[in-house]
Amino acid sequence: MKSAISNIDAIEPLRHFVTQMTQLVDQSQEESFVRPKAKALLKDLISSDNWLPEFCTVPHPQYYQQFLLHADPLERFSVVSFVWGPGQETPIHDHMVWGLIGMLRGSEKGQRYERDQNGKLKPIGQEETLMPGDIDEVSPTIGDIHLVKNAFTDKTSISIHVYGGNIGGVQRHVYDPNSGSIKNFVSGYSSTQIPNLWDRSAQIRAQLN
Ligand code: FE
Repeated sequence: MKSAISNIDAIEPLRHFVTQMTQLVDQSQEESFVRPKAKALLKDLISSDNWLPEFCTVPHPQYYQQFLLHADPLERFSVVSFVWGPGQETPIHDHMVWGLIGMLRGSEKGQRYERDQNGKLKPIGQEETLMPGDIDEVSPTIGDIHLVKNAFTDKTSISIHVYGGNIGGVQRHVYDPNSGSIKNFVSGYSSTQIPNLWDRSAQIRAQLN
């Protein structure tokens, strides 16, 4: 764990991440270039847990929440706080862009699937558990279909997701577990506000004094 960051500018790690990611996608948007480097940046971001604004940590009693932390204005990447209430889980779904899932608080479990020639879904491997600091990866290039759930039935878990597009606006799919049949969906975001990364006045004033 990193040393505690001054409360003067608690959001600095997220701003740093967004700045680094922007410089990365400015160099290339090639997944093979961006994803490994984005993973290293995310590893660093989730190594501390004092930067996520409180309003992006609040579970909903019924639905898992997807709070937008930042969307690149050119929609080359997005960053989301994924908040799981106790026992909540996703349907089986895909992403259609690369994605990174970085565990921040609590724990989540994921099961990967693939479709066979008849369109039936079959699980790949065992259910995997993410602990704080762990990162999972999805993509059409490495396996994009999974079901994810809170590992806990009695507490909230939070993971920080990074995607190679504006994920809330990407048309993707949910799969029926039995028939494998596909439905289109667009996730949108749960957010009513997004973190203010750009009020750097406290930081600048601290440098003046
Ligand atoms: Fe997913």
